[in-house]
Amino acid sequence: MDITLVTGDNPGPYTGAGNNTYLIPGDTPTLIDAATGKASHLAGLARALGSAALAQVLVTHAHPDHADGCDPIAARWPEAVFRKMPWPDRDRRQALICQPLADGDMVAAGNGALRAVHTPGHAPDHLCFYEETGGTLFSADLVVLGSSVVIPSSGGGNLADYLTSLQKIRDLDPLRMLPAHGPAIEAPREVIDGYLEHRRRREDQIIDAMRSGARRPDAIVARLYQNLRAELQLLARESVLAHLVKLQGEKRACQRGDDWELV
Ligand SMILES: [Zn+2]
Repeated sequence: MDITLVTGDNPGPYTGAGNNTYLIPGDTPTLIDAATGKASHLAGLARALGSAALAQVLVTHAHPDHADGCDPIAARWPEAVFRKMPWPDRDRRQALICQPLADGDMVAAGNGALRAVHTPGHAPDHLCFYEETGGTLFSADLVVLGSSVVIPSSGGGNLADYLTSLQKIRDLDPLRMLPAHGPAIEAPREVIDGYLEHRRRREDQIIDAMRSGARRPDAIVARLYQNLRAELQLLARESVLAHLVKLQGEKRACQRGDDWELV
């Protein structure tokens, strides 16, 4: 499968160097993710398409850096079809109506086909797209090389689901992953194992912090992270909360008012 990287050109604290979108040319010219709709992204997409017309956009999930480009792309390529797994609350941000995708759906793309793989956790509607013949997985926000992925616990994130999704992709055993942020991942299994290990360690640290008296997410954040930049404070809190909710689901922690306690 022939793949061209088209950068979203939207760098920022949450997006790193900006979003990667991928164009698959061929009989069904397909774009993976819509980024944010910046003029420079649309220009890059037009250059990558050349004389071809965009047939389809597969949106990995409804977060703004993946989906806000849908309306501007639809305005410029009105014949393109947009598909994603529904997340009704968030999908309303777009005027556009997407065709619904479900886990296991096969979609023609380029000169081949992609399989939708539901991988919730970072977002409830999160899909990866798998190209079986070449072993390439478009992995969206499942993992980012050299960083960790935010589980927005108060905005549809779920850590238990996320760990199950990591395991699901580990079992799928792709040869390489093309993420929505950062460079291509040529050793997926190693990176996924590192992620699973990181989450286990973080959980141990949170339990230690609670054992030594931290009761509230902010207090746990203060023990876990030193010299945290202000804009990352909220993300760290969400991450700690995601662990607490997971522990609660496993009946290993419970919440009393604003306080959390180990069971
Ligand atoms: Zn996201």
